[in-house]
Amino acid sequence: RAKVVSRGSWLLYEPGMTPVLGARLHLETELAVAVAQGQFLVYYQPKASCRSGAITGFEALIRWLHPTRGIVPPSEFIPILEETGLIDRVGAWVLRTACQQLAAWDLLGHDRLTMAVNVSLRQLVDLTYPESVKAILSESGVPAERLELELTESLLMQDVRQTEVLLFRLKALGVRLSIDDFGTGYSSLAYLKRLPIDTVKIDRTFVQDITTNPNDASITRAIIGMARSLNLSLIAEGVETEAQLSKLVAEHCDTVQGYFIGKPMPATDTVALLASGWRLPPELIGRP
Ligand code: C2E
Ligand code: MG
Ligand code: MG
Ligand code: MG
Repeated sequence: RAKVVSRGSWLLYEPGMTPVLGARLHLETELAVAVAQGQFLVYYQPKASCRSGAITGFEALIRWLHPTRGIVPPSEFIPILEETGLIDRVGAWVLRTACQQLAAWDLLGHDRLTMAVNVSLRQLVDLTYPESVKAILSESGVPAERLELELTESLLMQDVRQTEVLLFRLKALGVRLSIDDFGTGYSSLAYLKRLPIDTVKIDRTFVQDITTNPNDASITRAIIGMARSLNLSLIAEGVETEAQLSKLVAEHCDTVQGYFIGKPMPATDTVALLASGWRLPPELIGRP
C-alpha cells in the first residue's frame, strides 16, 4: 500500500517493501533531518586561466556531513533533493554561502574572483528563483557579474518556455550563465541558440581521453571551435594531467579546472592557496 513519494510527502517503511525502497526512504528521512539541522558544507574548486595561469575563481560544490557516514558526495543526494523539492531550500543556502565567501575573499584583497554555483534546472520550476538570487546578491554585496550559474540537467527540461523565461530574467540581473557537462546528457546545441548562455563547460568525459582517443580530441576541438564562433567562453572540467592541459592550451581553451589545478577544498584552504600566488606552470601555457 505504498503511495508514490511526491514532493514533500513521506512514507514509512513497511515490512513488505523491497530493501531498495526501504533504503531510499531511509535516505529521504535522513535528508529531511540534514536540511532541518544544516548538515551541509560547501567546498570550493579553483579555475585557472590558460592565458595568465592565475586562479580566476572557484566553483561551489556541496557536501553532506553525515553524522555517522562522514562526507557524502552530491551524486548520492542531489537527485533526491530534486525529486522531493528540498533542492530549493538547499540551493538557496549554497548560493548564500558561496556569495558570502566571495565577499570574504574580497575583504582579503582577492577582489576579482568569480564564483560559480550549480543550479539544477529543477530549481527553475520555482518562479520566484530569480528574485531570490537578486536578494542574496544584494544582501552579500557581491556584483552580479562575478556570479556564474552553472546549469546542470539531470532530467529532460519539463517546461521549456518557463525555463527560458526564467533564464532571461536571471541574465537581466547581470549574472553569467553556463551550461555544465556540455556534450552529455540532455544538453543540446539548440540551447546555445535560444538561451542567454555565456559559457560552455566541456564535460570531463571528453577531457579524460583527450590525449589518447582521437574521437574525444575531435569532439573537444569541435566544441571549442563552436564556442569561439558563437562568442562564448569555454572551460574544460576534469583536467588531471599535464598532457591534458597542454592539449587544451594548444586548442585555445580559455579556462581549466580539475585535480591538476586543485581539488574541491574547504574555504580555509582556498585562502592559503590564494595567498600562495599559485599559477599554472608557465611552460605549460606557453609563457616565458
Ligand atoms: P559538476 O558541477 O560537473 O562538478 C564537477 C564534479 O567533478 C565535482 O564532483 C568535482 O569534485 C569533480 N571533479 C573536479 N575535477 C575533477 C577531476 O580532475 N577528476 C575527477 N575525476 N573529478 C573531478 P562533485 O563535487 O562530487 O559534484 C558532482 C555533481 O553534483 C556536480 O557536477 C553537480 O552537478 C552536482 N552538484 C554539486 N554541488 C551542487 C549544488 O550545490 N547544487 C546542485 N544543484 N548540484 C550540485
Ligand atoms: Mg558544475
Ligand atoms: Mg560539470
Ligand atoms: Mg561533469
